[in-house]
Amino acid sequence: MTFDGFDTRAIHAGQEADAGTGSVVVPIHQTSTYAQDSVGGLRGGYEYSRAANPTRSALEECLAALESGARGLAFASGMAAEDTLLRTIAGPGDHVIIPDDAYGGTFRLFSTVLQRWGVSWDAVPQTDPEAVRAAIRPETVAVWTETPTNPLLNVTDIAALAGIAHEAGALLVVDNTFASPYLQQPLALGADVVAHSTTKYLGGHSDVVGGALVAADAELGERLAFHQKTMGAIAGPFDSWLTLRGVKTLGVRMDRHCANAERVVRELSEHPAVREVLYPGLADHPGHKVAANQMSGFGGMVSVRLSGGEDAALRLCERARVFTLGESLGGVESLIEHPGRMTHSSTAGSALEVPADLVRLSVGIEAAEDLLADLRQALAG
Ligand SMILES: *Cc1c(COP(=O)(O)O)cnc(C)c1O
Repeated sequence: MTFDGFDTRAIHAGQEADAGTGSVVVPIHQTSTYAQDSVGGLRGGYEYSRAANPTRSALEECLAALESGARGLAFASGMAAEDTLLRTIAGPGDHVIIPDDAYGGTFRLFSTVLQRWGVSWDAVPQTDPEAVRAAIRPETVAVWTETPTNPLLNVTDIAALAGIAHEAGALLVVDNTFASPYLQQPLALGADVVAHSTTKYLGGHSDVVGGALVAADAELGERLAFHQKTMGAIAGPFDSWLTLRGVKTLGVRMDRHCANAERVVRELSEHPAVREVLYPGLADHPGHKVAANQMSGFGGMVSVRLSGGEDAALRLCERARVFTLGESLGGVESLIEHPGRMTHSSTAGSALEVPADLVRLSVGIEAAEDLLADLRQALAG
C-alpha cells in the first residue's frame, strides 16, 4: 500500500503489522543469520544480516518513501553513508565539487581519505551556481551540496545545481540532514542522491548514531546496495529500530523546531550582544528567496555571531543551561556549541575555517519561554 501524506508515510511505510504475530511495531530482529528450509531455500528472502535485516529493511523502505526515492539504505553513521556513496560513484582520477563551508566531517573525508584514494575535489561557494559551473572539469563525477549548510546556514539552489551537474554528466548529491525530508525534498528538485546523518532530525532523540542514502533511481540504488553489503558499514537492528521510532514523529517535531527557532531568532536579532543572526527564514538572509522556494519551513538550526568576539561566544556556550553544551543537533533537547573549537575544528587554517565569534544553536522542542529566558541569562553580564 502507498500513502500520500508525509506523516502517514513516516508512520506506516515499510511498517506493516508483523505477518506472524500481528506486532504493530516492527520487531528488533537481533539476529545475524536466518534458518533455511533447504540449501538456498530462504523463508523471507533473508540470509545474512550484513546483506539485509528485516528491521533495517523497514527503515530503508520508510526512508525511501519519505524522500520519494527508488531505494533507501541505512548505515552505521552519516559518515559511513557518505564514504560508501563516494566510493561507489567516484574512483581514482575522478573529481567532486563540495561546498566551501561543508560539514567538517565531509571536508575531512575528502581532504584525507578520498584524497589519498585519488579522488580530487574543489571547495566552492555554492550559493553562486555559476561558481559551481566554473569548477566543473571533464573528470567531475559529482556535485556534493549541503543546504542549509552547517554551521553557516547558507542556502544553495538545488534545482539550479542539478541542471549544472546533469549538463556535465555528473550526479547531484544533497546532504539533507539540516532540513530533513519533512522540510525539503531534493529528489523532486532534480537531485540524484540524498545523504543523511539520521543521528540528527530523523532519529531526533540524541540516542543513536546512523546514516542513510536515498537514490532517485533504482539502478544507482542497486549499485549502492551492493557497496553497502560489500563494505559492510550497515545500521544494526537496534539502531535501525530506534531511528524508525524517531522517524514516526518527524513532522510534529519539525513543526515545533521551526516555531521555536523563529522565537529564538526574533529574540536574538534584537539583542545588543549579537552582531548577526544567521537563519534562512530572515528576509535579509542572502538565501531567503531560494529557501522559501525549496523548503516548506526554515528549520531548527540558528547560528549567531557575537559582538564580543570569540570570548563572548565561548561565554555564551558555557553559561547556557537549558541549551546543553555539546556537539550534534536535531534532537528534542536544545544544544549549543562553538563550531570553531568543536565540530569544525578540523577546518582550522583551511579555506573552510569558520569565524571564531560564531555560536551554533540546535533549537529543541522545549517550551519556547524557557529557551528564551536561558539565552537572556547566558548573554547577560
Ligand atoms: C552530523 C552530520 C554528518 C555526519 O553524520 P554522522 O552521523 O555524525 O556520521 C554529515 N552531514 C551533516 C550536515 C551533519 O550534520
